[in-house]
Amino acid sequence: MILSVPYLDLAAQMRPIRPEIDAAIARVLDSCSFCLGPDVDAFEREFAAFSGAPHAVAFNSGTSALHVAMRLLDIGAGDEVITTPFTFVATTWAISYVGATPRFVDIEEATFNLDPAKAEAAISSRTKAILPVHLYGHPANLEPLLAVCGAANLPLIEDAAQAHSAFYKNKCVGNFGVLGVFSFYPGKNLGAYGESGALVTSDPNLAERARSLRNHGSTVRYYHDEIGYNYRMEGIQGAVLRVKLKHLTAWTEARRRIAHRYHALLADTPLQLPREAPHARSAYHLYVVRHPRRDALMKFLEARQIGCALHYPVPVHLQKCYAALAYKAGDFPIAEKAASECLSLPIYPELTDEQIEAVAAAIRQFFGA
Ligand SMILES: *Cc1c(COP(=O)(O)O)cnc(C)c1O
Repeated sequence: MILSVPYLDLAAQMRPIRPEIDAAIARVLDSCSFCLGPDVDAFEREFAAFSGAPHAVAFNSGTSALHVAMRLLDIGAGDEVITTPFTFVATTWAISYVGATPRFVDIEEATFNLDPAKAEAAISSRTKAILPVHLYGHPANLEPLLAVCGAANLPLIEDAAQAHSAFYKNKCVGNFGVLGVFSFYPGKNLGAYGESGALVTSDPNLAERARSLRNHGSTVRYYHDEIGYNYRMEGIQGAVLRVKLKHLTAWTEARRRIAHRYHALLADTPLQLPREAPHARSAYHLYVVRHPRRDALMKFLEARQIGCALHYPVPVHLQKCYAALAYKAGDFPIAEKAASECLSLPIYPELTDEQIEAVAAAIRQFFGA
């Protein structure tokens, strides 16, 4: 019998919490607090406490929070921000939205994350910030990155969109830089039922300005201190996220158990498996394996009703939208090779042992193992 394994199953996660979700949404409908409001305020406090951050500011997406992060640091035309080409493109949208230029450098082979030495070598008089991504939920190499930033007097901004409750040493990611950004897109480790995001910071002035920028540049209604945005989180998303935040620790533990199970079942195959760096505790947003015959393996798995995905097939420096930056194939060989070899296997807290074993069995069959 073929057991199909969907790549992602948001319905499975919703089922057991549905009564709580329904009650939370009903509360928002009763109060008519549709944009920001008491549930969003409470979620900001609860998410800050969860992440160990003094302040959290809720947004209508991770992309908007990243955009505002650039504004908070007064990054603009003529400036450069050093970042990784191996990420979801929203990381660099923020840089482009303010008229600055992404300055890409290659990644570390082992973690797929921004290489601190290469970031240091790329610093110029135009550099205004360094923006690492905690890709797949695995923390970037934060201490060396902070040392590079410290020596050059540059702020670090963390794109933690995939890394809720990932730890570097004893601290939750998002708290190492001046600003940390999270996404609550439905497929993320903490997902809203729509679009949402947040920014965390220890600086009360940055938090206050972020609240103004997300709300039309205004703290007093109809008085606008600077050009702002409508980037407010919806009340319903705040209420949904409060329910789901209570489960996040257990969900992260489940993801980690699944990753360890895959590891045990696949260790003797030719696949290169994800590994945690010694300083890191991954949130396993994705479980990404590597192999030169990736495309054939993907076809093989899909033919057996096993969902898999590519994160990401084209590195950002080779995307058409950035053709004007004139990067070319070969510029970042580690990122480009990763893009051609990576394959994301199903990983979500509700995945059953039977499903994990079915994925592993199909992979072993592909390799004749
Ligand atoms: C999801 C994601 C974003 C954008 O978040 P949205 O909430 O979808 O706007 C930014 N960076 C990375 C690395 C992401 O995975």
